Amino acid sequence: MATYKQPCIHCGTLVERDARFCPACGSQSPFAYLCPACLREVEKGSQAICAGCGRPLYITCPICGGRTFVREKCEACGAGLMVKCPNPRCGAPQFFENEKCTACGKKIKPKDRVVTPAVGAGAPPPR
Ligand SMILES: [Zn+2]
Ligand SMILES: [Zn+2]
Ligand SMILES: [Zn+2]
Ligand SMILES: [Zn+2]
Repeated sequence: MATYKQPCIHCGTLVERDARFCPACGSQSPFAYLCPACLREVEKGSQAICAGCGRPLYITCPICGGRTFVREKCEACGAGLMVKCPNPRCGAPQFFENEKCTACGKKIKPKDRVVTPAVGAGAPPPR
């Protein structure tokens, strides 16, 4: 039987339809957007609030102040919006607004939820 490939919605790489993650960008949901807090599948564009946990699916980027869908990167400035779980045995990437790690359940303190602009990108030019 032929295998079907579909582009990853995050990076565009063709990925096997039954793959559990994208080998190129590492996203665990190559074909769907997931709520960063409860990991329920959400529809981008038609939903404003996660049906599972009620969190907003659009946020203001802490780096550029633009509006962006809750995903790995800000859609306006491209800054990464993921932080690492502070649990040294976990380290799973977590959306910066998550108060708890979705992988190990550890609480993420506000100081560990700070995203920084990517080096060489996102910083507004001085004038
Ligand atoms: Zn990808
Ligand atoms: Zn949710
Ligand atoms: Zn931004
Ligand atoms: Zn964790």
